[in-house]
Amino acid sequence: MASHKGTGLTSDLKITSVEAMYLRLPQVKEQCDSGQDALVVKITTDAGITGYGEVDSNPMGAKGIIEGPFSHTATTGLGHVLIGEDPLQTEYLWHKMYRANIYGGRRGVAIHAMSGIDLALWDIKGKALGLPVWKLLGGGFTKSLRPYASSLFGETPAETGDRARRFVDQGFTAVKFGWDPMGRDEATDIALVREARAGLGTQPDLMIDAGLVFDAKTAIQRAKAFEQYNPFWFEEPLLPDDYHGYAKLSAASSLRIAAGEEESERKSFIELMDVGQVDVIQVDLTRCGGFTEAMKIASLAADRGIPVVNHGFTTYLNVAAALHFLASIPNTLGLLEFVVEEGTTLRHHITEPIRAVDGRVAVPDAPGLGLGIDEKGIAKYRVG
Ligand SMILES: [Mg+2]
Repeated sequence: MASHKGTGLTSDLKITSVEAMYLRLPQVKEQCDSGQDALVVKITTDAGITGYGEVDSNPMGAKGIIEGPFSHTATTGLGHVLIGEDPLQTEYLWHKMYRANIYGGRRGVAIHAMSGIDLALWDIKGKALGLPVWKLLGGGFTKSLRPYASSLFGETPAETGDRARRFVDQGFTAVKFGWDPMGRDEATDIALVREARAGLGTQPDLMIDAGLVFDAKTAIQRAKAFEQYNPFWFEEPLLPDDYHGYAKLSAASSLRIAAGEEESERKSFIELMDVGQVDVIQVDLTRCGGFTEAMKIASLAADRGIPVVNHGFTTYLNVAAALHFLASIPNTLGLLEFVVEEGTTLRHHITEPIRAVDGRVAVPDAPGLGLGIDEKGIAKYRVG
């Protein structure tokens, strides 16, 4: 048993298993909605404390990276390097995982996989110490955040307007629409934004997520055309590697340009900020490298005067992680992405739901991520 001098704290926790559980709705639509399946990470310890995290990525690719065997000292299953380790040593374990996958894991799916593990480790740390993650991160900047309803565009501009009215009726003060059919043609693009604004009325904030469909010059033209509908931000109009295009767009437009959900690991965020010159950084806790990396990304953004928001379109594990993270950094916009996509319900069967009450979502106060897990629901939808 290790004794931590001066704290009165003892820890004899050891990681005994790392499992990646692939859940999937029986029917999935081929649309841009990552709420139809989920990869949930479960880490168990010898003291009976279990932690949960989530990975939003190519699910079977991430599962292989987590559960794969030792192959080579520079490419090893992440679970393999964690077994027997103390789960409270989150910084050390992050670097151990990174080093063990240096061939294929400096960006992308292996960092995504590490994210789910890191969230589960912080969940264990909180449960072991009886504290919510936000307190372990030294936070407490806020007790709640303002959720924005996050949805795909309707199939038509008119349907987008109908959705907007429904979200306002549900009490949301900010709404985001994204992806298809944006990018089909100029008239449709403008009509989508016009009807979204018409449905919302003048007061609520409107975010537009283009979904990677434009080149820089087209994005500049669209940003100009959308200005009259007063969008709060214009998200991901360009392909993620087009950092120079982002810089041109950002310089040319008065709209806030938002991006970051495609980035993983802090150095790719540095590129997005320093080359891309974007105005809002979107950090997905289930992709960026978990809490351990997200705190560094937020700090790098703060040094540049850039606000941070979350990205999350999957389960309440992602939402809970975002709440703890955003409550622990100074440079937020006070906003929380909150999926309201209608028809994909898997998130309701993994944990207890997180709800918006009176236009706010509370930061969890229970130990760890602070979410009740629905083991039966997980078993029911598990396919891998
Ligand atoms: Mg987006």
